[in-house]
Amino acid sequence: MQDRVEEKDIIAGNDLISYSVCPYSFYLQRLEGKSKIPTTGVAAAVLFFLSKRKNIFDVKDKKVGVLFEGQRRAGPLLKHIEQMTSEELLEFMPFSSAEAFGGSLKGTWSMILDRNFYHGNPIYWNFSNESWKIGNDLSKAGKNYCEFVLNEGAPVMGLVDKERTFMFEGVHFRVKIPEIRVKNGKRSGGAPEEYRVMVDHPTLFDFKGELCEKKRLTLEESAAVTLRLYGLSRLLRKYQETYLPKLDAPLWFWDYMDRSDFKILPNLVYRHISLIKDEIEMTTRRDVNLDPLRILIERHIKGVAEEKFDPNVKSCHSCKYSLLGIDGKPVCDYRDKNKIPSVPKHYFNFNNFDIEEKDDEDGIKLIGRVDQKREIIVRNKLETITASHKVGVYNLRFVEGSEIRVESNYDAHVFGAVFSKKKEGTFETQMMERMDELIQEMVNETGKKAVHMIDFNKDFNFAGKKRSKEKLESLGYEDVDDGKFRKVYDVSQNNST
Ligand code: SF4
Repeated sequence: MQDRVEEKDIIAGNDLISYSVCPYSFYLQRLEGKSKIPTTGVAAAVLFFLSKRKNIFDVKDKKVGVLFEGQRRAGPLLKHIEQMTSEELLEFMPFSSAEAFGGSLKGTWSMILDRNFYHGNPIYWNFSNESWKIGNDLSKAGKNYCEFVLNEGAPVMGLVDKERTFMFEGVHFRVKIPEIRVKNGKRSGGAPEEYRVMVDHPTLFDFKGELCEKKRLTLEESAAVTLRLYGLSRLLRKYQETYLPKLDAPLWFWDYMDRSDFKILPNLVYRHISLIKDEIEMTTRRDVNLDPLRILIERHIKGVAEEKFDPNVKSCHSCKYSLLGIDGKPVCDYRDKNKIPSVPKHYFNFNNFDIEEKDDEDGIKLIGRVDQKREIIVRNKLETITASHKVGVYNLRFVEGSEIRVESNYDAHVFGAVFSKKKEGTFETQMMERMDELIQEMVNETGKKAVHMIDFNKDFNFAGKKRSKEKLESLGYEDVDDGKFRKVYDVSQNNST
């Protein structure tokens, strides 16, 4: 039985991390209910891997196949998967090898890509072949995970990714227990080895703990890890009759169950398995580590109660809200423009990009749009409709005298996204080319010189700035004063400086 408590009063272990990393992302997640937004390719891959890795444990007898759904026993003795040796695992696992498991992940991922949806949400990307790169990463991660399981055995207690709620000093928390294994020397041939309970957390990427004094804490330092090990200690104490026999716990470990001088049980080890890199980090905790956890919790509870949800743009590079919404506008108003947001796949196709010109009061507005054609059925008839989203606007203002002074400003929802053929550049470089043609056309028509100064730091000093600078230089602009790019247009020489 879990503690009865209302959902709103439970703090998830990951909330502590997300609030510390960017309070605004916590706000979007927990308080604004932004669950029905597109998902980034990376976020989809992380969830995909976490759910698909469990397929390894659906064992089958290769002679008779699968007897039961979610089968965990196989062989003449119907041995449970957690008791199998590496050889038995390999014999009964539903994959012929670690490579085959990796390959199956990549294959299923490519089916997801065909639909480009994950759990009902469209998947958005950072660059045009990111989905392909992630497929290869998943294949590597699957292989490495399978090898880890063959070496270390299947997790015990059937607690794969189970969430558990418990209380710590008057506050309810929920943490995920990813996988549990026991090290007691039996698996390695009975050699005497210290008894340890391993909490294994396999993920695609490196461990990233909470943010503390502008620094992401390591596995060794993270108070969020302390909370998980404390949570497991509570769980084992509460259900000791159930779990300790499964953990094959020695008597001395049983004795710690009733000792109030140990809040965190001894010999619990937390391992983070970074699967793409194939690296394992491990750490342990003692009660003295509860002090930083108390500080983290206090900061979280007070911050949320005071409704402090300031954005921390230093975290945008790894934030799932750094993307466009279905309406084509950024999901997070505060996102860092130095990070390329995730966008729909068709945004990388140059043929979908179009620049509309609109006369303004004393100038011209260039509006960059991405269009997507879709076929839908209306009243039994197939119709082609176009979804059109604005990505950037270039305002050009012409001040006429003996020569024309061109003033401009540029702003966009997306900076730095590169079209699938790199030579086609970015939205910004396309807008620059059109801006240049337009000024030159006006100069040719009026016969007057024009001078255009661009404040690069204000308009383009974001993701993709190197390409933007190169484009301006190729168009004949010169950096004349620390980011002020200038070009003089003359009718007698097209594109002269
Ligand atoms: S995009 Fe940046 S500012 Fe916005 S929620 Fe994410 S980390 Fe915070």
